[in-house]
Amino acid sequence: MVTEEAPQAGEEPPASPGFDSLKRFRSAGRGFWANVPDQDWQDWRWQLKHRVTTLERLERLMPTLTPEERAGTVLANSKLAMAITPYFFNLIDPADEDCPIRRQVIPRLDETATATWEMSDPCGEDSHSPVPGLVHRYPDRVLFLVTDRCAAYCRYCTRSRLVSNASGYDFHPEFDRQLAYIARNPAVRDVLLSGGDPLLFSDEKLEFLLSRLRAIPHVEFVRIGTRIPIFLPQRITPELCAMLKQFHPLFISIHSNHPRELTTEARDALGRLADAGIPLGNQSVLLRHVNDDLAVMKAHVQKLLLCRVRPYYIYQCDLIAGSAHLRASVRKGLEIMEGLRGHTTGYAVPTYVIDAPGGGGKVPVSPEYVLSRNADRVVFRNYEGMIFEYPEASDGTPLFKGPTRIEEPELV
Ligand code: SF4
Repeated sequence: MVTEEAPQAGEEPPASPGFDSLKRFRSAGRGFWANVPDQDWQDWRWQLKHRVTTLERLERLMPTLTPEERAGTVLANSKLAMAITPYFFNLIDPADEDCPIRRQVIPRLDETATATWEMSDPCGEDSHSPVPGLVHRYPDRVLFLVTDRCAAYCRYCTRSRLVSNASGYDFHPEFDRQLAYIARNPAVRDVLLSGGDPLLFSDEKLEFLLSRLRAIPHVEFVRIGTRIPIFLPQRITPELCAMLKQFHPLFISIHSNHPRELTTEARDALGRLADAGIPLGNQSVLLRHVNDDLAVMKAHVQKLLLCRVRPYYIYQCDLIAGSAHLRASVRKGLEIMEGLRGHTTGYAVPTYVIDAPGGGGKVPVSPEYVLSRNADRVVFRNYEGMIFEYPEASDGTPLFKGPTRIEEPELV
């Protein structure tokens, strides 16, 4: 008779076949665009020009569109435009209404439902903007919103009030004032370029922007926040990487939410950036029925390491107006963190943060590991639930005489 044995403490349950499948790298393929010449398909400008932006085209490509998606798409352009690159569109499973890729980019009628606690500027960025498009929230760094364009639009975007307004692939109208603010504030040592997506600029424009920043002596460190390697990996050309390489130390934070977004194309694009010496981090947003699942998140963070990307943050979804259907609970987020820490490589474990609604900045939240602090010890647990004690005086100084009794570690 075969009996099933429960995993012992410290033993991980075997990975499910679903997990292995999530971790596999696949190409997005050509799908509906099988007849497009290779040269066009690999051309990022072709991809941008042929984005899916209208209901008519969406219905033609995906006859399984639900009434909620159809109604959402009709209303979408009054708020946040719909745009999906052909490459990324191929990742959608048309047979699955709840496909995690589909939920992120195809509008739903739910977006029109707004609760009183939801906001159009949930992180209070506008109130921390000394110049339009420049957010100075923390003492030594600024967020520099250089454009309002993205390759595709995420339905939960925190900056939906700003992006997709179609001002063209040019700098923000306040570009000179933004730069002047950074130049006259020596406390600003770190500049994060975001938007919109800065990698949508031509190489020449981006080089001009980076050169202007590097000419400011107190700017030590430049970061680019981008979703381009995920939405449009064709943009990560050898020429772009060679240009970026001149501006070290330059870090890039990508934005990927689900292991299926990490295709062979995305992996290759990220490899080109890593080969250019650019440290890569990832920021995910915790999204309902997209990645609010331990196996999905675990496969995702492990796959990111395979792409040479360090998982950096998991964000609790901001209280952006019309995003309730995409927001997962904080309880779920904590459960996922509990299932990652200790259960997989430390490098794969990101920090889970909530951007305090209204503009309080990022606050890390994590499962509780310290159980108590007594006069002579700190009591804490490990990832398996075993309890330990660390002898220490209550004011933090070392103890020269140990506590009277140290408990044997025990399982809780
Ligand atoms: S790529 Fe970033 S800025 Fe653009 S729509 Fe998505 S979340 Fe918003």
